[in-house]
Amino acid sequence: MRVPLMAGNWKMHKTQAEATALVEGLKPHAAAVKDQETVVCPPFTALGAVVRAAAGSPIGVGAQNLHWEKEGAFTGEVSAPMLADLGCRYVIVGHSERRQHFGETDEVVQRKARAAVTAGVHPIVCIGESLREREAGTTFDVLEAQVKGSLHGLSGDSGLVVAYEPVWAIGTGRTANPAQVQEVHAFLRKLLEGLLSPAAAAATRILYGGSVKPDNIRDLMGQPDVDGALVGGASLDPSSFGKIIRFRG
Ligand code: PEP
Repeated sequence: MRVPLMAGNWKMHKTQAEATALVEGLKPHAAAVKDQETVVCPPFTALGAVVRAAAGSPIGVGAQNLHWEKEGAFTGEVSAPMLADLGCRYVIVGHSERRQHFGETDEVVQRKARAAVTAGVHPIVCIGESLREREAGTTFDVLEAQVKGSLHGLSGDSGLVVAYEPVWAIGTGRTANPAQVQEVHAFLRKLLEGLLSPAAAAATRILYGGSVKPDNIRDLMGQPDVDGALVGGASLDPSSFGKIIRFRG
């Protein structure tokens, strides 16, 4: 019922030419998988080139950030209708790097997610505990607060995607083990039942992110509540992202 989603977060990498080449390299891999979505999230400057390169292929395009207002005096910002106009179907919201380096709070994340939904762009809302929080045993409290704060006001038919990304696993080579991930995802789905509805919770895709690689994706995807992955470093190379996309073999 939930179509798995493999999304690549390119962060601040790739010129237009490099981005186009990466999409070309990914096309055969994306075309080889059925019943699964492939999405790439380049930086703003490469979005147009990637939309053009991906046209007619099964590769969808997402942005990495947006502003919550439709337009106005917000120098340097980009709005949800602008992303929709470019051809973006998805946007990453509240990535831990934005929370950490740019001070994004759950309230900001919630406004951005709602703006995306209003413009018809699916938000991929990121949540995750820090190493200190995990070691202090507060993982589930932290996640509950983030889910409630970041998703407040979203309705069940918003096309929301949730990405669980433990901060200690991002870019570190440390992956949460599949049992840890399943435990958290099942907990998140239960929370979504209360926040949205049981039907909406059952339909919402929950991705895992944090050092996903070709050699760990299969075990992660074997968990019943893991509906895909948000992939950073390993999505920058068509061969490694291709292997992740084609994890079934
Ligand atoms: C990310 O940036 O969302 C991420 C999960 O990065 P990495 O795969 O490199 O850990």
